Amino acid sequence: MLAQRAALFKSSGTAAARIAAKAAAASGRDIIDLTAGEIWSELAPSVRVGAIAAINRNLNRYTDTVGLLKLRQALAGKVSAETAQPWSADEIAVTSGAKQALFNAAMALLSPGDEVLIPAPYWTTFPAQAVIAGGTPVFIETRNSNYVPRLVDLAAAVTSKTKAIVVNTPNNPTGAIYDRGTLAGIAQLAIDRDLWIIFDECYGAFAHDPHTHHSIVSVAPGVRDRTLIVNSFSKSLALTGWRIGYLAGPAPVISAVKALQSHTTSNPNVIAQHALLHFLERGDPAFQLQLRRQVAKARSLGLSILSALTLVPRPAAQGGFYFYLDLTELQRCANRNGRDINADDVVNALLMEAGVATVSGTTFGDPAGIRLSYGIDLELLDQGLRRLTVALNAWN
Ligand code: PLP
Repeated sequence: MLAQRAALFKSSGTAAARIAAKAAAASGRDIIDLTAGEIWSELAPSVRVGAIAAINRNLNRYTDTVGLLKLRQALAGKVSAETAQPWSADEIAVTSGAKQALFNAAMALLSPGDEVLIPAPYWTTFPAQAVIAGGTPVFIETRNSNYVPRLVDLAAAVTSKTKAIVVNTPNNPTGAIYDRGTLAGIAQLAIDRDLWIIFDECYGAFAHDPHTHHSIVSVAPGVRDRTLIVNSFSKSLALTGWRIGYLAGPAPVISAVKALQSHTTSNPNVIAQHALLHFLERGDPAFQLQLRRQVAKARSLGLSILSALTLVPRPAAQGGFYFYLDLTELQRCANRNGRDINADDVVNALLMEAGVATVSGTTFGDPAGIRLSYGIDLELLDQGLRRLTVALNAWN
């Protein structure tokens, strides 16, 4: 018999979509997989050099639970530059990816029954972790406001139980980037109603012209002592497997996180920590530029192919590396022809009819959207999106 708590653990929907794509490919079908939450890329040279140097130095021991002091100092420097405020090492915890930073934040902040405002569509881990920590997710619809929450909706959802607001910009899955006005408004709401902000900026390296990513702390410095910044190198350096992320926030929260982490995973992998320290000390501008160019090129190729869609509006794709398609019109059209379809049906049909794997919006709390990753090889992306466009247009 499992603990009652185990009923709360539902495997991530994005992982399920990846598994379905792999199973279809394993059965011999020609599948183009647009489900990945990562960028196909070579390893960053600075990371490779830093890791090899650490191995050659025979490093094999535990580090400080929340990361090497030098790495926390370097990250404090990074966060200081990004927020235009000074940060110190005791305000930083290095974690095994941003996912652990978010989990630590949920466990440190939420008491049973606390509510967390989460704009929807949402990355599926936000509500899952809130629930595991005993909290209650409260979703704020953003479909009718270009996937950015309206302040009136956020304010109306605040109750005496509300503890935190999740702000994820650039957004997974929608690709929306919150502008300064929105960030300032959310910050003011948090101050007025005494709330925490969990600020996930994992896709901040990919803001597409003319959009700019802003840290909420740089926009509204007064919100700093109630903000937990979550970031990682998984997306920005195409380093998902290395599992290095961080949490930046007030020192008492970081101490609680340190105690928690000391009983869960201890320190993040020592070699990966040294590799990222080397990256932060030496920089790798050529690699970063090339990665950003690769993503920008994939985005413009994708947008030009998707412009041929007849019943689906052009996705905004302001940041990150996802196209989020709005299926509302397609669903209406199917409805007029006597068919009732949701995003899962569209994803299944695309997999079966076109050999293209995508992620259903139902995973993100939205039955009228699908997410396509453009972090993949350009030729495959080209083929995959052409197949998808033909298939969706045929439903017209
Ligand atoms: N935050 C968001 C919004 C994400 O989409 C992801 C991964 O997809 C993460 C955090 C987790 O990143 P990491 O691989 O660093 O744990």
